Amino acid sequence: MNYLKIEELIKKISKEIIILVAEDDNFIRRIIAKILKKWNLKVIEAKDGKEAWEKFKENYKNIGIVLLDWIMPEMDGLKVCQLIRKFNMEHYVYVIFLSSIEEKEKIAECLEVGADDYIIKPIHEKEFLARIKSALRIIALERELTEANQKLEKLATFDELTGALNRRALYEELKKNAYRALREGKNLYILMVDIDHFKKVNDTYGHQIGDEVLKEVVKRFKLLLRPYDIIGRYGGEEFLIAFINEKETNAVEVAERLRKVIAKTPFQISKDICLFITISLGVSVFKPTEVNSNEKEIMSQLEEAIKLADKALYEAKNQGRNKVIAYF
Ligand code: GH3
Ligand code: MG
Ligand code: MG
Ligand code: MG
Repeated sequence: MNYLKIEELIKKISKEIIILVAEDDNFIRRIIAKILKKWNLKVIEAKDGKEAWEKFKENYKNIGIVLLDWIMPEMDGLKVCQLIRKFNMEHYVYVIFLSSIEEKEKIAECLEVGADDYIIKPIHEKEFLARIKSALRIIALERELTEANQKLEKLATFDELTGALNRRALYEELKKNAYRALREGKNLYILMVDIDHFKKVNDTYGHQIGDEVLKEVVKRFKLLLRPYDIIGRYGGEEFLIAFINEKETNAVEVAERLRKVIAKTPFQISKDICLFITISLGVSVFKPTEVNSNEKEIMSQLEEAIKLADKALYEAKNQGRNKVIAYF
């Protein structure tokens, strides 16, 4: 990455993170805090190892750097560092030791337990700030990597146009929910949805308007369903909705509500394009009580349920569209 970009990142994260300073010598601790505050960095002070660990646990979500004196009452820096490294957290914490011990063996020991850097006291302000900056650089890079990973994960999970799950993620979720249904002895309902005469929308108004319709359909579905219900883009303008519910009639009711939420209010796509859209739905159920609990069996039963919902959908189309048909 471009070094200038890293400098920018440092500026950004230095406003967001807290630096924990653990040092039993009041004078040194205050000097350190003062130097850091000159740079507008947020500081939390601890006067011994135990307090450092308590404050770390309280604030770990925002702590980016920990400065640890080695020799402190209650608990020494080495022990605090070990505890930090065992602590399960989502981001990396950069640990710097502060010590007057210059022995190479001892320095190696600190690095071995998980320290990232080691500063020999007395502190030299310029060197100290340069090392803090290098810590910020590492933190900035880690943040950048995490953000990039999150973006990739989102891309790998959701359909970009509609925000529904993509097909691969849809199957993952179906599988997870099939197991949950099995554990809880409940049914997993499958709804296959297809927009009626969607080709006509594309042919009359163009593909882009068609895309807007797809987005609005999913938006309306999401408003109606619960956050943990599954909405996946099964094909072009076909969606699969799945949820665990108690009663079969309930699933048909949900399907009816979905049908109505589309048909009732026309789609105002732009100032002069207002479309009447309808959908057809096929409903089926995956009943885990009738299934052996091995993965192959579960997946094949799930496939059966999807096929049956598809068949019901086909029947809904045959019966004139804007309709719900259930095969249980
Ligand atoms: P039916 O009522 O029988 O479902 O009629 P239909 O016209 O909707 O027929 P069908 O379901 O076969 O139509 C699918 C159409 O959806 C054809 C395809 O061009 C369009 N489509 C698929 N994916 C997209 C997309 O991402 N954007 C847009 N705008 N159109 C899409
Ligand atoms: Mg000390
Ligand atoms: Mg279709
Ligand atoms: Mg269609």
